[in-house]
Amino acid sequence: MAEVDRVGLGYDLHRLAAGRRLVLAGVAIDWPEGLVGHSDADVALHALIDAVLGAAGLGDIGEAFPDTDPTYKDADSGELTRQAADMAAHAGWRVANADLTIRAERPKLSPYKQAMRDRIADLLGVEPERVNVKAKTDEGTGPVGSGEAMAAMAIVGLAKLRP
Ligand code: MG
Repeated sequence: MAEVDRVGLGYDLHRLAAGRRLVLAGVAIDWPEGLVGHSDADVALHALIDAVLGAAGLGDIGEAFPDTDPTYKDADSGELTRQAADMAAHAGWRVANADLTIRAERPKLSPYKQAMRDRIADLLGVEPERVNVKAKTDEGTGPVGSGEAMAAMAIVGLAKLRP
């Protein structure tokens, strides 16, 4: 029996602005700027949600949780992640693993990586060993490197739930 039957890819980018809460992978980070968006703009969880939905063949985050729907104004992306994992489970899939790369020039994210991993595991309903979080800078180049934005990439492996 294969451990992973399908994989899905996710990507997201949000702008930074002063006076917003910074929440990355469901972990609040004390920082003078935060990400701008209709929801809490958690760029890492948005990439993860797209990877889960993509692996399950369930479209994308914009279809599942439309930003035209006032329900999702200032939405907790952690709750949306739980819902995406539930959607995949109802379609017959369990998360085998999730791997994320967060692209942020500042602040240094290494002190938060374990908390992010634990939080994502809880949201997906899997053991932390199935989750990996990486953080990178963009070496001062482009919109991430200048501090204009943060971005994230995620890949998720799903295994078919077999009776
Ligand atoms: Mg987003």
